[in-house]
Amino acid sequence: MAIERTFSIIKPDATARNLTGAVNALIEKAGLRIVGQKRIRMTREQAETFYAVHKARPFFGELVEFMTSGPVVVQVLEGENAVLKYREIMGATDPSKAADGTIRKVHAKSIGENSVHGSDAQETAAIEIAQFFSGNEIVG
Ligand code: GDP
Ligand code: MG
Repeated sequence: MAIERTFSIIKPDATARNLTGAVNALIEKAGLRIVGQKRIRMTREQAETFYAVHKARPFFGELVEFMTSGPVVVQVLEGENAVLKYREIMGATDPSKAADGTIRKVHAKSIGENSVHGSDAQETAAIEIAQFFSGNEIVG
């Protein structure tokens, strides 16, 4: 199986509730290694660029407000099939539809404030990692 990297964000609703460690425990339990991690305050410009694909959606403004409302933890996760594996342990976007034991089922507050982001494909993972990390900040 292929060793991949994916990009993760622990979102403001989760950092506000001191859930960084709880989320990281679920990540590591799934066999994913945290090879890059930093706590930042996203700027409006960073959030708009990051979520540009959703620009036309009715929730875009709310999403940018939320992502800039408090600290986030950006991460690079590494492991076998990391992109898909992380999507699986995150659970569905809407926590009420997420499978039992997933990060969003256990921790998320709502479809908007849903605790974590994870890349949806290898190509987007590479772009997202490059937006927030330089090479020497990732230690495999
Ligand atoms: P994800 O890949 O599971 O994170 O979901 P999407 O890529 O579809 O959406 C990106 C993010 O936008 C989600 O994680 C939510 O934070 C937010 N979002 C998606 N749908 C809604 C919605 O209907 N309402 C609100 N307020 N936020 C949403
Ligand atoms: Mg998405």
